[in-house]
Amino acid sequence: MEANPHVAAAYHRQMRGLEVVRWVGGSTVVLRQDIALNYEAPFLFLLLGADRALLLDTGATADPARFGLRDAVDELIGTDTELIVSHSHAHGDHVAADGQFVDRPHTTTVGHTAEQVAAFFGVDAWPTGSGAVDLGGRVLTVLPIPGHHPASIAIHDPATSLLLTGDTVYPGRLYVRDFPAFLASLDRLCDFADTHPVEQILGAHIEMSTTPFRDFPLGSVRHPAEQTLAMTVAQLHEIRDAARSVADSPGAHRFADFAIWNGPSRGALAWQLVRRALRR
Ligand SMILES: [Zn+2]
Repeated sequence: MEANPHVAAAYHRQMRGLEVVRWVGGSTVVLRQDIALNYEAPFLFLLLGADRALLLDTGATADPARFGLRDAVDELIGTDTELIVSHSHAHGDHVAADGQFVDRPHTTTVGHTAEQVAAFFGVDAWPTGSGAVDLGGRVLTVLPIPGHHPASIAIHDPATSLLLTGDTVYPGRLYVRDFPAFLASLDRLCDFADTHPVEQILGAHIEMSTTPFRDFPLGSVRHPAEQTLAMTVAQLHEIRDAARSVADSPGAHRFADFAIWNGPSRGALAWQLVRRALRR
């Protein structure tokens, strides 16, 4: 895409509690919360169109003195640009800084329930249908993908061939609350990715190391030799196939590039805490 005139500073940089990780073309910013501030270290995305920008997720920390998300966004797009604040899903590590945008002019924050998300993006049928949002010369497709959370969505951007998948597809521990819904969402995502341009699938966390099957234990505040965020359509299919294979097996299941937690697993959780304590 062409560089967006609203964008002030197109370079990698650190801000207060977050980092501009990279740019995709001239109009998409990949941001990440500093892992020292919160071990979840979620990724956030800022997509710019000719008329407005969309921020996907607001991170895990509310306090603007430690996590300067609003200032970073204003610096990147300018204070006069219309902004939509939306969420991959409404867990606390993705909505914490919503409050920083309450008094921002020209700003709409999408609600946290599936009903509110569907209404905002005009999703015709939840979860099997789709919605859209026009940023001005850049129309994003919004796909409901419940399973991790009832209001989970994926966003597809045909301009960059990015598919943003939140906590449903990423190189880490995929925590599943509603397994039938999760599996159906993965089926729909695979169908979509097979029939639309998708070059990179970007989720919201990295918990895998570069060593296959090896994740960083829950709560780790250092991620040496971290896997890259971007996943491929082939890996999406692997996740779907893996999910099918463990659909009837509650508990944590490890795979080379990800893990699937089918419902809560006290044993697996305890082992995570032991591993973190032992730093392994
Ligand atoms: Zn998360």
